[in-house]
Amino acid sequence: MELEVIGQSVKGRDIHLVKYISDPDNPTILYLTQQHGNEQLTTEGALAFIKSLGTGKMKGVLDGVNILVLPMANPDGAMGDVDFSLEDYIASGDRNLTRYNANEVDLNRDHVAKTQPETQALHYNVLKEYSIDYMIDLHHQGTRSAVDGQLVSGSFLYPTSPNVDADVLEGSKRLGSIVYNAIQPTGWGHLGKYVGGTAETIGRNGIAVEYDISTLLFEMRGMSDHEGEWAVLGQKSNGYLIKQTVVTLEATARAIADGSVETADTTFWDTLPEQYNLPR
Ligand SMILES: [Zn+2]
Repeated sequence: MELEVIGQSVKGRDIHLVKYISDPDNPTILYLTQQHGNEQLTTEGALAFIKSLGTGKMKGVLDGVNILVLPMANPDGAMGDVDFSLEDYIASGDRNLTRYNANEVDLNRDHVAKTQPETQALHYNVLKEYSIDYMIDLHHQGTRSAVDGQLVSGSFLYPTSPNVDADVLEGSKRLGSIVYNAIQPTGWGHLGKYVGGTAETIGRNGIAVEYDISTLLFEMRGMSDHEGEWAVLGQKSNGYLIKQTVVTLEATARAIADGSVETADTTFWDTLPEQYNLPR
């Protein structure tokens, strides 16, 4: 494992890339977390995944896949160290966490203009630097999303820009199939189809178009902090949401390493229900 500092945030915090590159000819996946600072359990999950890569449980996987992990793409938002007020945010404690970076920019709408140092670090020192085949962009959503009358544990979606190459899109759908089959059968997993836009300012779309990377958005249930109570999750859900990240990362790394992602069945996408909000 190698640790690289790929840049600094607006406030000068280091942004890290964790690298496992065993063979340059292997397929490569990038796991990206916490572009939105208030969506932090995915970072905890990514760190647990990194730990698991050193154990017997994941033995041999690194022989077949190169893994890049960029945890906490927005460290200033994650620390609440920003140049705007967070006084309406509702998490208790001595700091708040926010979606935006210190300049109050939504980093996941900056993938075309690339005006912010955090976005520039990702694009110029990771996406342009490595030959990446797959990416999972990990987020959190509101707490009331449901399918089949039941709250979801998360929702996911492939790139929906019309400019995405057909093979790239198919790769995204196959990657999603691996996630679906790893999460849905668990007792706690219940997945819906995310309802998302086509703008290429969004990582899921823009990164697929610009670099031909098969991207997948994965939104975990609930956020750590927000101005709206509808979005904030209690502590008791943390365990399974961290686990959902770990299972997702382990399953996709395995499926790329053993080649099974190449033949994953994507037909579930045709019947996967779009999520909607249950009343508060
Ligand atoms: Zn987000």
